[in-house]
Amino acid sequence: MNDYAAAVLAGLADKNPHEPEFLQAAKEFLESLSPVLDKHPEYRDAALLERLTEPERAISFSVPWVDSDGKVRVNKGYRVQFNGAIGPFKGGLRFHPSVNLSIIKFLGFEQIFKNSLTGLPIGGGKGGSDFDPKGKSDRDVMAFCQAFMRELYRHIGQDTDVPAGDIGVGGREIGYLFGYYKKIKNEHACILTGRGLSYGGSLVRTEATGYGLVYILEEYLKTVGEDLQGKRLTVSGSGNVALYAHEKAAQLGAKVVAMSDSNGYIYDEKGIDLPTVKRLKEAERKRISEYVKFHKTAKYVEGCGGIWDVKCDYALPCATQNEINLDQAKILVKNGVRAVAEGANMPCTPEATEYFLKNGAGVLPAKAANAGGVATSALEMAQSGQRIFWNFEEVDKKLKEIMIDIFKNIDAAAREYGMPGNFVAGANIAGFKKVADAMTAFGIV
Ligand code: NDP
Repeated sequence: MNDYAAAVLAGLADKNPHEPEFLQAAKEFLESLSPVLDKHPEYRDAALLERLTEPERAISFSVPWVDSDGKVRVNKGYRVQFNGAIGPFKGGLRFHPSVNLSIIKFLGFEQIFKNSLTGLPIGGGKGGSDFDPKGKSDRDVMAFCQAFMRELYRHIGQDTDVPAGDIGVGGREIGYLFGYYKKIKNEHACILTGRGLSYGGSLVRTEATGYGLVYILEEYLKTVGEDLQGKRLTVSGSGNVALYAHEKAAQLGAKVVAMSDSNGYIYDEKGIDLPTVKRLKEAERKRISEYVKFHKTAKYVEGCGGIWDVKCDYALPCATQNEINLDQAKILVKNGVRAVAEGANMPCTPEATEYFLKNGAGVLPAKAANAGGVATSALEMAQSGQRIFWNFEEVDKKLKEIMIDIFKNIDAAAREYGMPGNFVAGANIAGFKKVADAMTAFGIV
């Protein structure tokens, strides 16, 4: 590793000893930046990496709310405005019991470079809460969202910071959050994306991350003389990203043989029936285990890690961070996997990624591969700004063009710095360059 990058990483580990996810993301990023830093000693003089790895602002707040039994509850809330060099802070809100500052910082850090890769003017941020919407009534979710926005509203704005959804924050939560902001600010502005179509949302936003993931995979496959027709895919998760990755892959002729939720996975040689999964998970908010009641050839296995034992041509981890470790990577490679497209953020551990790269499986890293969601959020901002509304085909076409451009840029950056085929490095380098240029232009601020 370049000695400047190593020194910055050591400093980060000293200052943030209780933030393993953030340190993991920073290490992976700084390692692959080494060749750029060797070429540009001026970054050290400007302490650019020290400035880049410290959030511009990290807000932590309490969220007191009253549940429908009249009980007072208190959750933690976060918004990390990591870097706004190239545009307003932009990144999702995650509601999940595992949420802590380390996870929000890791996600916000990754978001800087992901947003830069889209080619659109958006900075990086992330937020959320340890509130768990799962199993809660609509009334309780609404009460929590309103309490969360009661603090968040003072930190966001259409030219300042524009959050969106993430795990646990879907259309219902965005509606409650936006409605409350509008009420207390008396302002119908684009301060959140992923909004419903009736109040400023964009077509394709729901499908965007999953579709974008498959578009970039398709573009990569062209370079190795393959396509999706007739291929076996494993798609972990059964949330927003997983469902629409499945949908697009199926449209392009692939067969998804396994999907999961946080309790277990389903597997069917004949292919998983998407409408059933959509009904169970999107409409009825049920467990994926129920799938086998409707499809006799399918099997349900308790525990989600085993999903990577299923033989597939391409793996699409779309659930959560670190869901593929080295052992699972070895099994996937042994079973003939040839590409891994990361729908979730940081789903492969660094050891797993390294193993895939050494064994000839292409890895499309999250910050490039799942950028379709935030890119379409930026298209939602653009439509709101102009008070216009593009149709589905127009947005989908722009999304596809963005994903193809992202692939071309990360491929070119990897080649330029002597690492052809290493898209992990290519994405970090291509994402970093634009942010570094903007920060350099500003001087020390
Ligand atoms: P959702 O909340 O819609 O779905 C998450 C899915 O993953 C659910 O099926 C959930 O199961 C499952 N899951 C959660 N934790 C685990 C676990 N530990 N093991 C196995 N499965 C698990 O989230 P999204 O689909 O929106 O997000 C998925 C990933 O994609 C996240 O990493 C997110 O940051 C990333 N992402 C999402 C974007 C978007 O536009 N939605 C954009 C870019 C990245 P259960 O139903 O049991 O909760």
